[in-house]
Amino acid sequence: MAAAVALAERGIPVTVFESARQLGGRARGVLHNDMQAPSLQLSPKGGESNRPLRGNHLILDNGQHLLLGCYRETLRLIEQVGGNIEQDFLRLPLQLDLHGEFAFRAPRLPAPLHLLMALLNAQGLPFGARLDAARFMLALRRANFRLAHDMTVCELLAQHSQSDGLVRKLWEPLCIAALNTPIHKASAQVLLNVLRDALNRSRADSDMLLPRLNFSALFPQRAAGYIERRGGKMLTSCAIKAIIPKDGGIELVTAQACPEPGQRGRTAFSHVICAAPPTVAANLLRPISSLENTVAQIDSLEHQPIYTVYLRYPAHVTLPHPMIGLHRRFSQWLFDRGRIAGQHGLLAAVISAEGIHQELAQEQLAQKVIAELREEFGIAEPPGWFRVIAEKRATFCCAPDLLRPPQQTALPGLLLAGDYTAGDYPATLEGAVLSGLRCASLVLES
Ligand SMILES: Cc1cc2nc3c(=O)[nH]c(=O)nc-3n(C[C@H](O)[C@H](O)[C@H](O)COP(=O)(O)OP(=O)(O)OC[C@H]3O[C@@H](n4cnc5c(N)ncnc54)[C@H](O)[C@@H]3O)c2cc1C
Repeated sequence: MAAAVALAERGIPVTVFESARQLGGRARGVLHNDMQAPSLQLSPKGGESNRPLRGNHLILDNGQHLLLGCYRETLRLIEQVGGNIEQDFLRLPLQLDLHGEFAFRAPRLPAPLHLLMALLNAQGLPFGARLDAARFMLALRRANFRLAHDMTVCELLAQHSQSDGLVRKLWEPLCIAALNTPIHKASAQVLLNVLRDALNRSRADSDMLLPRLNFSALFPQRAAGYIERRGGKMLTSCAIKAIIPKDGGIELVTAQACPEPGQRGRTAFSHVICAAPPTVAANLLRPISSLENTVAQIDSLEHQPIYTVYLRYPAHVTLPHPMIGLHRRFSQWLFDRGRIAGQHGLLAAVISAEGIHQELAQEQLAQKVIAELREEFGIAEPPGWFRVIAEKRATFCCAPDLLRPPQQTALPGLLLAGDYTAGDYPATLEGAVLSGLRCASLVLES
């Protein structure tokens, strides 16, 4: 969508083929009906009191998303297609609160002073450890956040004598949130790229932005309107089945039912940007012999999950902050959708990267989260319903020295966009957007 917006802006006629009924991909709104959600009869007498909550429709995201202030291109694009960042997001200054275990909040000082002061004043770690964290950040800054050789985050932290407590309370939650990859597998260089952009430039770059709108409404639906107003075509429920090089152009084959502009499910284009997720992209490109290396690179990517457990409590139930972490619990981050977006009583627990939670049935996982909410915040009432959204291939596993395919392919006119393509960032909205903008530039230059 980023590529399509950038091309439509320059007057290039684009056609967007989307296999799903709705726009947004891995950052999309999901219509939810209470009546179809599993309800929890936790207390024998609790059933009827939960009834008034059931039978409503609301839109959930397929996973709670968080943007950073340094996601400049994503934020710029949202405004370009009609959004308003200050209205569309709840903006929080950089903070990390692991309920009762660790807290760190950036004061209103210029970067990177705000971070150093936050580290030195953090609660929940001895002063020596806080000093080590500040020294580590200064060392990274002196090295321009560049490593001579990539390594795992675990190895980098050990090299810089970061204590066990520091790792568990600060660096591990940060790495998992940013890279969706456990520290013993995660690329230190990619984490440093994020730290460089988020913590080292202006203070606003480290702000955390929580969307008040569902993700389909936030960007892709607005982008679709922008594209159509400039003569582009948006085709949903219209999957690409094959990409065929033909007569100096590229033919796209769709399912017969798709109302594509061409004849009998085939349409020829001068340029094609394949923006499907990596596993689909690999299958579409596999028959093209000149793309053997690209396909091999995509096939070698491993993936990491993200689970989101939504729980609908009575409207008066709240958390102490819009976003709060838990230490050594199943729920890594909790979001109070009431405080963020006026969805009162709706809480979301996010569990990023691989872990033992994957061994639990959905109801068991929801029960664990409910027990944690009861023990940590005294929320004794049962939720009316829960919904677990398990994205098994949420992101690629962001390992050291990963070879990610470039946007330009060996087939003239065929480009690749997506969070998994070559770039500085882990699998994030900004990474996906940057890849799309790069594809648009390559099309315009050709
Ligand atoms: C639960 C979850 C939480 C996340 N949290 C964050 C976060 O807090 N911050 C952050 O920055 N990032 C987060 N991410 C990552 C972010 O959502 C992704 O990096 C980003 O959405 C990837 O965008 P993309 O365009 O590369 O791919 P996708 O969003 O996967 O888009 C690919 C599109 O291609 C379509 N498609 C598939 N096959 C075909 C076909 N054959 N023909 C036509 N279309 C097809 C799909 O339907 C989809 O719309 C999260 C991801 C998940 C799953």
